[in-house]
This record gives sequence, C-alpha cells and structure tokens, in this order.
Amino acid sequence: MNEIIVQTKSRTDFINITRSVQEFAEKKQTRDGLITVFVPHTTAGITINENADPDVTADMETVLDRMVPWNGGYLHREGNTAAHVKTSLMGSSVQVIVQDGQLALGTWQSIYFCEFDGPRTRRVWMSEFPA
Ligand code: ZN
Repeated sequence: MNEIIVQTKSRTDFINITRSVQEFAEKKQTRDGLITVFVPHTTAGITINENADPDVTADMETVLDRMVPWNGGYLHREGNTAAHVKTSLMGSSVQVIVQDGQLALGTWQSIYFCEFDGPRTRRVWMSEFPA
C-alpha cells in the first residue's frame, strides 16, 4: 500500500490526483493491472470526472449543495452531516485499469479527491493488483 497526502483548501474542494496515481503505477512498474485508490475518511470521497472544464466540478459542488444543504436539521451532533452524505454519494474508492504502464482513463477523465469538510490534511491509499 502507498499513501499520498492531500492538503485541501476549502470546505468543498475537488483536487485532481491523477498524476499521483500515475506516478504510483510507474513506481510499482505496473505494466498491466488494476490500481485501487481508497480514501480513508468519512467526510471526503473520490470520483472520476471531466478534467477539461473546471466548471464541471464547480457545478458538481452546486448540485451536491442543492441535494444536501449544510444546514438541514440533521441529528449528528458534530454538525457535518452534509459532508458525510456527500462522501457516500461520491464513494470512497475508484479502480483504474493500467495498460502498458499508463492509467487507462478516457480522454476527458481525471481522478478527483473530493473534500466536503475542509480545509484539512487528508490521506489517500493506493494498492495495485497484481502486487
Ligand atoms: Zn461527523
């Protein structure tokens, strides 16, 4: 397993970590296989989406805020229920195919770390198969 540290800058923050995952594949000399990228947090998740137009992640933030307002009369006393729910909507892991040493992503796809209760220092774990 390999860990990278992500420093988020605001309550909600989508950070493109594709380069770090590609570097992990190169370090492990993975030619053909799978990399699992896992976020070990309950108020930050991960997703794959468009990298060309930054308005896409901005719009995702807008839609998630509409779906799950920060103040919603929730029970959880820590006061960050919206962050927990958004994390489950995005998910805690993605799996990417490695082919000839390169991440097999679509032209417009990147891997985004999704912060929902920042700013914080976060961790991302990566594991490759076969090891
Ligand atoms: Zn909480």
